[in-house]
Amino acid sequence: MSKLEDIVSLCKRRGFVFPGSDVYGGFAGTWDFGPLGVILKKKIMDEWWKFFVEDREDIYGIDAAIIMNPKTWEASGHTATFADPLVECKECKSRFRADKIADGINESVTTEEFLATHTKCPVCGKENWGPIRKFNMMFSTHVGAVLPDDDKEVAEKNIAYLRPETAQGIFTNYKNVYDTIYPDLPFGLAQQGKAFRNEISPRDFILRDRECSQMEIEYFVHPDTWEDNFETMRKLQHEFLENTIGLPKDKIHEYDVPASDRAHYSKRTTDFMYDYPNGEEELMGLAYRTDFDLSNIQRESGKSMEYRDKKTNETFIPHVIEPSIGVERLFLAVLSNAYTEDEVNNEKRVVLKLPENLAPYKFCVSPLLKNKPELVEKAKSVYQQLRTKYSNVTWDDSGNIGKRYRKQDEIGTPKCVVIDYDTLNDDTVTVRDRDTTKQTRVKIADL
Ligand SMILES: [Zn+2]
Repeated sequence: MSKLEDIVSLCKRRGFVFPGSDVYGGFAGTWDFGPLGVILKKKIMDEWWKFFVEDREDIYGIDAAIIMNPKTWEASGHTATFADPLVECKECKSRFRADKIADGINESVTTEEFLATHTKCPVCGKENWGPIRKFNMMFSTHVGAVLPDDDKEVAEKNIAYLRPETAQGIFTNYKNVYDTIYPDLPFGLAQQGKAFRNEISPRDFILRDRECSQMEIEYFVHPDTWEDNFETMRKLQHEFLENTIGLPKDKIHEYDVPASDRAHYSKRTTDFMYDYPNGEEELMGLAYRTDFDLSNIQRESGKSMEYRDKKTNETFIPHVIEPSIGVERLFLAVLSNAYTEDEVNNEKRVVLKLPENLAPYKFCVSPLLKNKPELVEKAKSVYQQLRTKYSNVTWDDSGNIGKRYRKQDEIGTPKCVVIDYDTLNDDTVTVRDRDTTKQTRVKIADL
């Protein structure tokens, strides 16, 4: 098994991530978070929110609706250009994203360019391709009372999309925020939430799924200062990823995206790549979106998106620096960095070396023996004490102590607290460290 498969297996076994709709045999490109996955995901999102919103005075939060007025996607260019190059094998009818099965081409590949790569079908091995067609990745739906026998025009009038990015929920609220709290430039608006992309071939576990959670900031700046602000944001991302989330510096690689590969709205994009178990993949992006979005909104809505400088009275449409990160991508980076196999007492051990601020539980409390009422009673009281103090504390009295340690290692609990007969006399407990497996004697009051 590859390391990614090991992680997928651990995620299912321990309740981090399950295949979506698992009971019905799954549903491609969807994943469900289990009891432990939810805690880890929430901690990652909370750390981001604290770092970029709560601990700063220049970034504010918003939470916009997922289904937005379809004009949003016309103005943003998504209706016209949010598409991947789809190619169909004429032999077996399998459909692929052309730029993912051939080397040296990008999303704007033409049929001729693709055919020149002489790529064989990954399913049947033949080389007999149809033309490249643009496949729009937005999920469409109908809003309001649309019936199956309504004519096409009625249906089309009511078409709406699940948002393909959270960013537009921010841009469309720029004016509302500006008119209500009058922030000084530069200022940012941050949002966390679901985004949907109808990927042609979802793959690589939660890396390329059809429904994902994004954390995005639109940082509004004076056009003359975009380069400085881009640099400031770039450094902040490193600080967050390395110091707060604990990802190793040497596994994060920056890559300046050439103009031909950049999204239609960007004048400069830096991709932050991460060394995942199955190779280097995008972790997050930092894009200079110019005034593309606000100018489009101003044109389409007829409402001014201009900012007036309070001191100089200068008016202009702000430019935007956008750090955008997928929660699932960060989640997998955290897990794959933490996933470790080592040997303890000549036995193979799987351990998640999660940073303490992200581990689902800080402590696991258990009685040495579960059939001794006095030990169980004391352990319960220690458990309650620690829960009051830290909240993220778990209880385990299943199996023997060795098995409990293994289980807690696999879910990344940094410390196991064990109550034995000495505890009854001197109020000390054994604290066993996840990473070193060393045991120390500690006073309960010092935990
Ligand atoms: Zn084929």
